[in-house]
Amino acid sequence: MLIGLCGAISSGKHAVAEYLIQKEGFRLLKLKNGGPPRISGEPDGARQLQALESAENESSSSSQLVFEDSKSLLDFVTKRWQELWVTTDIWDITVLDRFLQRPFFLLVSVDAPMSLRWKRLTDRCHKRLLKPPSLEEFVLWNERHLYEKGVGRAYFTDRAQVRLFNSSSSLEELHAALKSLGLANEQRLRPNWDQYFMELASLAAQRSNCMKRRVGCVIVRDRRVISTGYNGTPRHLENCNEGGCPRCNRGEGGGMGLSTCLCLHAEENALLEAGRERIREGAILYCDTCPCLTCTVKIAQVGISEVVYSQGYNMDKDSAAILKAAGVKLRQFSPPRNGLIYLECSENTK
Ligand SMILES: [Zn+2]
Ligand SMILES: [Zn+2]
Ligand SMILES: [Zn+2]
Repeated sequence: MLIGLCGAISSGKHAVAEYLIQKEGFRLLKLKNGGPPRISGEPDGARQLQALESAENESSSSSQLVFEDSKSLLDFVTKRWQELWVTTDIWDITVLDRFLQRPFFLLVSVDAPMSLRWKRLTDRCHKRLLKPPSLEEFVLWNERHLYEKGVGRAYFTDRAQVRLFNSSSSLEELHAALKSLGLANEQRLRPNWDQYFMELASLAAQRSNCMKRRVGCVIVRDRRVISTGYNGTPRHLENCNEGGCPRCNRGEGGGMGLSTCLCLHAEENALLEAGRERIREGAILYCDTCPCLTCTVKIAQVGISEVVYSQGYNMDKDSAAILKAAGVKLRQFSPPRNGLIYLECSENTK
């Protein structure tokens, strides 16, 4: 695995790299002349600080591996991808895209509150008797750092598979949060089967035209997709979101007036699409929402062996009771959340 760290000024990406090296057995890979590209109008203090710190880093860590260019770094890791590597030296968009094509590469971005980043930078400047930038200088420099055409960091943050928000006030706190997060978990690189099918169900849900709620479903046997479905009005009828179902468009609460609803549920559509013959022993139904009662009885009747759902609905208990009585396994699986992960409250990061 190769973790690439990117992020805003003083967000703590080097602290994250240091954690991976010290606590999780990663090794640092560097590029020769691997410093960040010049951003115009960099405050003097910040530039001097960077020069000092990179000189210190070079003399202190003899164990780090330095490469002439990104290609030789990538070739090196390709032969050793099952070991743990980390780099903070990707600054070029073309290089980043080349790295992202590889199945062993994980891009992690680190961000932190602007005021905290400014304070961290100020502290680092003071330690070395340099003049720190004012908050205003820092803000303007930051904007260019993020959005300057061609070199801005925003593009990198946008492509990151994991985005960390590092508002921790101490290294101990950061380390504890990183430990519980488990960045090196291989499922971040390659989804397991549950994750894969659940994400297909979520993708199907995007096609929903029902005004009430987007739901998607995938039926699988022997790890092969038999059918997919999403909710909406039957074919040839007007789509729900174009007024096709008066009940859904009245905006009644979830579960109200279901008997007058014209929309087929995602599960129903997937079951109809698969047909009785293809649903045999061992078929698993993945659904991003726990099936309602009317879907549950159909699932039981048609011979599905297991139901896996991601989100709860308002009749989970009743559905669970029916499935249990019918001998259908039911379990909840929620794929790891994408998007921002707050590093200071570790119990919410799973
Ligand atoms: Zn509808
Ligand atoms: Zn409806
Ligand atoms: Zn249903």
